[in-house]
Amino acid sequence: MSRPSIQLIRGFKDILPGETELWQHIERTAVALFEDFGYREIRIPIIEKTELFARSIGEDTDIVEKEMYTFGDRKGDLLTLRPEATASICRSYIQHKMYAQDPVRKFYTIGPMFRRERPQKGRYRQFYQIDAEIFGVEAPYADVELIFLLRTLFERLKVTDTTAHINSLGCPACRPRFKDALADMLTAAAASLCSDCMRRKDRNPLRVLDCKAPGCRETMRSAPSILDYLCDACRSHFSTVTDMLTQLRVPFKVDKQLVRGLDYYTRTAFEIQTGALGAQSAVAGGGRYDGLVGSLGGPETPAIGFAIGLDRLAEIVSLNNPAAVRKPDLFIAALGEPARKLAYGWSTALGLAGISASMDFGDKSLKAQLKQANRLGADQVLIIGQSELDAGAVVLRDMAAQTQREIPVKAIVAALIETFCKPGAR
Ligand code: AMP
Repeated sequence: MSRPSIQLIRGFKDILPGETELWQHIERTAVALFEDFGYREIRIPIIEKTELFARSIGEDTDIVEKEMYTFGDRKGDLLTLRPEATASICRSYIQHKMYAQDPVRKFYTIGPMFRRERPQKGRYRQFYQIDAEIFGVEAPYADVELIFLLRTLFERLKVTDTTAHINSLGCPACRPRFKDALADMLTAAAASLCSDCMRRKDRNPLRVLDCKAPGCRETMRSAPSILDYLCDACRSHFSTVTDMLTQLRVPFKVDKQLVRGLDYYTRTAFEIQTGALGAQSAVAGGGRYDGLVGSLGGPETPAIGFAIGLDRLAEIVSLNNPAAVRKPDLFIAALGEPARKLAYGWSTALGLAGISASMDFGDKSLKAQLKQANRLGADQVLIIGQSELDAGAVVLRDMAAQTQREIPVKAIVAALIETFCKPGAR
C-alpha cells in the first residue's frame, strides 16, 4: 500500500515558478528605490529570544498573546519565529552599537515572518514582508519620506488603487489623557462591544478602535479622536507630516480610528489600504516607535518604519502585470548519444555566456523534442543528429520566422554567442 503524500502545513504555502518571477520583480523594484534613497540592507535571524518580541510588541497584543510560534529549544531556552522585523532590527542596532558611530541609519530587509493567525485569503501563517526603517531622526521628514517611498513603489509597480491612511498616536505625555477618555467612553458603551473588546477595553483600549466586529465599529464611530488630545509637540509634528505630504502630492486620509496592532508605536501611524484585496485591505503599515530602542536597553533613539505585505502586494501586482517568465533563447534538439554529448557541452558554454539553451537529456524523437521546444517558448531550435555530425554542420531554425540557416559544427558556440548577443537579438 502506498503511503499518503505529505502536505504542507496549514497557513503555509509554496511560491512556485510562474509566481516567483513576479516576486523578484517586486523585490528588485523595492531594492532599487531603497538604495536610491540611501537605505542599506540588513539581514536578521528568523528566530530570536521570545523575550525580545514580548517586550517590544507588547504582552497585551494579539501577536504576543496568541499568534507567536514559540518553542523551547533543546536546552529549554524560549525562542520564537519572528512575527515581524522591527524588534530584531532594533536589537541589532543596539547590540552592534550602530548608534555610536552614526545614530542615523536607514535599513531595509525582506523576508518571511510567522504568525499563527486564522488562515484565509491574504492571511498566512508564514508571510513575507518588505521592511524599511529609519533610526535617529525625530524630524517629521522621516515620516514623510517613508510614506512617499511607499507611494512611489506602488506607482512603479502600477498599483494605483491605494490610499494612505494616517493618524497620530501621540506620545507618553499626551496619550494617557486620551486613553482615559476612551476608557470612560468604552465603559459607558460596554454592552455593545464584542467579547474581545470587553477584555481590551481595560487592558489596551486603543485596540478597540480598529476592531472589525460590526457592533464595535458602529460604537467607535462616536469615539473621541486622539488628534484632539495631542500635546503641542505631537500636534506640530503631525501637521508638518500632513503639510509635506500635500506638498509632495501624496494623497492621504486622516483616519482617527487607525491604531496599529503593536504597542510600540508613537506619533505617526499609517497604513496603505487597497480596494483590490477584499477583507484584507491593508497592504502595508508602519509608524513611529520613538521609545522602542530605549526600552530595549539602547540609548533613546527616535525611529520609524514600515512593513509591506509582500504576499498581498504580489496579488495586486499580478492583476496589473502578469509575471514575465524567461523563455530559453534556444532549444537544442539532439538525436543519439554522440550528438547529445556534444550538444551538452555547447549548452553549458552558452549558459556561461548568458544564453539560456535548453535541451532534453533523454532519448526522445525529434518530433517530441520540437514539441518540448514549443512548450518552453524557444524561438530558435538547433537540430543535431548523426547526419549533421557527419556533414560537420547543424541547422538553426527560427520557429517564428520559419527560416533556417546552417552553421559549421566547429564554430557553433562562437556563432551562437554572436547571434544572441547582437543588440535586439533577444
Ligand atoms: P504589521 O506587521 O501587522 O503591521 O503588518 C504589515 C503588513 O504585513 C500588513 O499590512 C499586511 O499586508 C502584511 N501582513 C500582516 N500579517 C499578515 C498575514 N498573516 N498574512 C499576510 N500578510 C500579512
